[in-house]
Amino acid sequence: MPQLRTHIYFGLFTYPLAYFLVGLIFMKAKWSHFSMPFDDLTIVLSYLVYVIGSDLPDIDSKTAPIHHFLKILASILGVFMFLSWGSNLLSEKFGDAYLHLIATSVFVLAGGLISYILITLVLKLKIFNHRGFAHSISFAVIYGLLIYIGFYRSASNSLFIALLGSIGVILHLILDAVEDVKKGNKRKALKLW
Ligand SMILES: [Zn+2]
Repeated sequence: MPQLRTHIYFGLFTYPLAYFLVGLIFMKAKWSHFSMPFDDLTIVLSYLVYVIGSDLPDIDSKTAPIHHFLKILASILGVFMFLSWGSNLLSEKFGDAYLHLIATSVFVLAGGLISYILITLVLKLKIFNHRGFAHSISFAVIYGLLIYIGFYRSASNSLFIALLGSIGVILHLILDAVEDVKKGNKRKALKLW
């Protein structure tokens, strides 16, 4: 597999082309509910999910940095979810500032630990074997779908952001396929799932 650096560099520097082409399609289609020209937030978010997407499939490789980065990200997200779920409980049950501090620390520990264990177990599933499902077009679509759902309320151009995310993943698959051809590996490029 190409190095993280190759994937990241391609992600960083091909984004403007992807932005231009998809933007052109959106413009030509004249979808009135999209606010064009795109605002800064749309550009920054789509850039972020594109670059992350361009390395994301390698979460199925234990030696890839993104594999560990995802675990960190999932743990932090887990802490956030745990706290937003338990914040009422914390302030109701632990009015005393000292107790509140201790209880919050326990919540952070529990949220991080549970999320870390969960994501580790998920990544151990058979579908996450190297060059398995995470290296497929379905994965690209699911990634885009999750982004769309995630940004649906907060960003008006969530479809554009989601599309760029999926294209980032596809870019990774293409780069892997090119590498296979160069090395003479006979693997099915751009598999559906
Ligand atoms: Zn790969």
